[in-house]
Order: sequence, then structure tokens, then C-alpha cells
Amino acid sequence: MSKKFGQNFLISHPVRERIVDLLEVQAGQQVWEIGPGIGSITSLLLEKRAHVTAFEIDHGFCRILSEQAFGDDPLFRLVEGDALKTLPTLLQREGEPSRICGNLPYNVGSVILAKLLESSFRPPRMVFTLQKEVVDRICAQPGSKDWSSFSLLAQADYEVSLATTINSGAFYPPPKVTSSVILFTLRGESKVAPSLRTYFFTLVRDLFAQRRKTVKNNLLGGKVGAMVGRDGVQWVLDDAHVDSSLRAEALDWEQFLALSASLSSYRARCTDDTAQTK
Ligand code: SAM
Repeated sequence: MSKKFGQNFLISHPVRERIVDLLEVQAGQQVWEIGPGIGSITSLLLEKRAHVTAFEIDHGFCRILSEQAFGDDPLFRLVEGDALKTLPTLLQREGEPSRICGNLPYNVGSVILAKLLESSFRPPRMVFTLQKEVVDRICAQPGSKDWSSFSLLAQADYEVSLATTINSGAFYPPPKVTSSVILFTLRGESKVAPSLRTYFFTLVRDLFAQRRKTVKNNLLGGKVGAMVGRDGVQWVLDDAHVDSSLRAEALDWEQFLALSASLSSYRARCTDDTAQTK
């Protein structure tokens, strides 16, 4: 067992079954599992006759998975290595699977998830076990203390819900933190129009860069400031009717979307002006 790879095995069979139930796996579907360990969730997925691709970094576990546990199962495929690298590569090569799940190591879990949410790939349903605080941030509503860039990033395209909280006794060894299972269900339509996506993500990152700073100062110090300059930042805030002295945590969905639309308009105006000057 390696601390470095966040190896806390889910030893509660009912919780493992709950995770697989939440995924609503159909026979023949492509399911990707991140961090299978020695395959306790994997085996439940294979029982559903899903095509399972497992991303595992630990060489010893990989040997168990491929030589002993599922080596002769044609529905099982192992991708050995760091999922931070192997997952984006496979997404580019094959497109998104129907389902993604993982009892993720806390240190890499949020990074993998953030990368996935910012990519153009949208698996219809995902279930992850993460540190409770991370799940609270993802599910947070505007105005609450947990409202963050992660809430916006996740809720743009997905309905997110806290499925269950798991106490540390359900793991071996028991982690020092409480875990939660989170369900992601793809929305019929994204909250963010495709043409505003890049602006929206850039704004969200800039605005939450330093929580104690005002929206104006965060924009000036971030990519948006570099893109449109001081006058541009003020124009965008005025056009979106956002008070420049507020902090990002005080803004709601409508204001983030208004800012994205205003930034897009400002950029379009600049492009028009440049074209006319030429
Ligand atoms: N799925 C098993 C379970 O629920 O009992 C194991 C979960 S354990 C919390 C996390 C697993 O992720 C371990 O098997 C660990 O080796 C693997 N892991 C850690 N970092 C990883 C990474 N960057 N890429 C792929 N797997 C990783």
C-alpha cells in the first residue's frame, strides 16, 4: 500500500454497489475507471458486461489486474500510468466513454476532474468518490461559502448531486478525511453557449484567483486584463452591470454569463476596429 498514491481501499461492499448502481451501466457500454486498485469496483462493472478501461498507476496493482484478476476477460483493458496523462491521451484518441467512475486519490482527484470538465469531452454520467470538502464545493450554490470556480466549472454542463457521504471506516486503511460520492449527469443543454465557453472559463479562473480581491482587481491581474487592458476590463464590468468592488463569491450565474457575453462583445468590437483601421 502506498500513501503516495492515496491508496485507501473501499472495503464496504454496499458502498461499492451503490457507486455502480448510480452509474446505471448497460451491457456493452464503455466505462472508464480511474484508480481501480486491485479491482473491487471493476469486478462489479464487468459483471454488468460493460467494456471496462481501467487507469492505474501502481505497477504492482497493474500486474494483479492483468495477470490474475481480469487478464483473460475480453471486456477488460488496462491503461498503466498516471491518469493525469493517460486519460487525456485516450480521450483525444477515442472520444468520451459513456461512463467514468473512480474512487479517486484526493491529491489527483480534483485535478483530473477539473481537466475533464474544461475539456470538450462530455461523458453522459460520472460517479466519483472524493474528499467531502471537494464535493461540497462542486455542489455549492451561489451565495454559499463553498461557491467557487469548481462549482461553476462542474455545473455548467452537469447536474451535480451529493449521492452519499462515506465515513472513514468504509476504507482500509481509514483515511483522515470524510469522503462523499458525487453523481454528475449531463444536462440536455449547457448553461454556457458554445461561443462563450472560452471566455467563461477564462473569467471564472481569473475571478476566483484570489478570493479576497475584488472582481476588478482579479480581472486586471489575470488573463482577461492581459487580453483587454484596463479600459477593457472596466468596459466589460459596466456592460455586464457588475459592481467592480464585489468579490467573485457574491456573483451568481446570470452575472458570470453576462460578463462572458460582454467580454465576447468587447473582443468582437476590437476585432472590428482593427479591421476598419486596416
Ligand atoms: N478503486 C479502489 C477501491 O475503491 O478500493 C482503489 C481506490 S484508491 C483510493 C486510489 C487508486 O488510485 C489506487 O489504486 C492508486 O494506486 C490509484 N492512483 C493513484 N494516483 C493515480 C494516478 N495518478 N493515475 C492512476 N491511478 C492512480
